[in-house]
Amino acid sequence: MGSLKELKEQVWQSNMDLFRNNLVVHTFGNVSGIDRAQNIIAIKPSGIPYPELTADKIVLVDLENRVVDSKYKPSSDTRSHLILYKAFSNISGIVHTHSPYATAWAQANRSIPCLGTTHADHVPGEIPCTAELNDKQIKGDYESETANQIVKKFSNISPDEVQMVLVAGHGPFTWGKSPEQAVYHSLMLEEIAKIGLFTLLINPGVESLKKALIDKHFFRKHGEDSYYGQT
Ligand SMILES: [Zn+2]
Repeated sequence: MGSLKELKEQVWQSNMDLFRNNLVVHTFGNVSGIDRAQNIIAIKPSGIPYPELTADKIVLVDLENRVVDSKYKPSSDTRSHLILYKAFSNISGIVHTHSPYATAWAQANRSIPCLGTTHADHVPGEIPCTAELNDKQIKGDYESETANQIVKKFSNISPDEVQMVLVAGHGPFTWGKSPEQAVYHSLMLEEIAKIGLFTLLINPGVESLKKALIDKHFFRKHGEDSYYGQT
């Protein structure tokens, strides 16, 4: 169980990073991480304010949403996280927030077009917005249907390349190779959403960045031929 203890610590730190970076208020939002060898997920408990959160309050669940070791209930969004871990096999951390700029785009039901290199450094094209849920999905297993809608949106998008999404009328989910990386993507999405909004306010008719420039910025940081940074 040693590594699971570390996973809880890591997920707690990442949840606190969401709070420290002003991506969440009150009890909003959640971060999870998965131990792929044991198929155990560590996630924020439901309804506990961030200042009261400690590593031992982080809840461990299995892939069927059964609590493994806690007296606390896991986040009400846990079923969304489970579906994304099952569908996107390379990811090991997920974040959900209602951070204001990204949520504003989600509420407007608009994907974020790639308008500049800050965006292109992280995503090689638009940041997609899902379709709205229908009444049956909302009345049914709402949290699972929310994730199903994301998976459907990614039927022709690589979740390894585009590691963020807007859920229509709701807010963003991001993911990554670790909980820390998922939090980083949440922070970058909020920044991109903010810059994108201001860009369209200044020039509502602006066009997307040229494909050549998008590819230049994305692929100098990602993939086999990347050369940005020290590694
Ligand atoms: Zn939410």
